[in-house]
Amino acid sequence: MTPLDPVCAPTAGPAPYSRHFRPVSRVCPECNETFETPSRKKTFCCDAHKLAFHNRNAARGKVLIPLAMAWRAGRGSSDVAKKAFAQLTSTLDRFVREDREAGRLPMADYLQCSFARGHRD
Ligand SMILES: [Zn+2]
Repeated sequence: MTPLDPVCAPTAGPAPYSRHFRPVSRVCPECNETFETPSRKKTFCCDAHKLAFHNRNAARGKVLIPLAMAWRAGRGSSDVAKKAFAQLTSTLDRFVREDREAGRLPMADYLQCSFARGHRD
């Protein structure tokens, strides 16, 4: 994805919106569908998708954080660090596969848009 990719590049919509409320097109990270919103800060097409996205990431974080911390604390050289790294990468691969199979926006695209807009939500 390039910085100008329509996934995260705001696109001005037609009248009758005023300059401040002209809708922008976005791609929802949860359903990967394009939607229009008057808010340049809105990332998700609806509250249910925002909640699902954040709940899933919170649950995934509970699995990944201990593995990442054990790997990092051992600097990748201890036996525990090596096992943690192996589980970390296999779990990440599973999460990426789950997102792809569910038709979600790839996390790299989500983060690129989030970083480009200067916020995370
Ligand atoms: Zn959605």
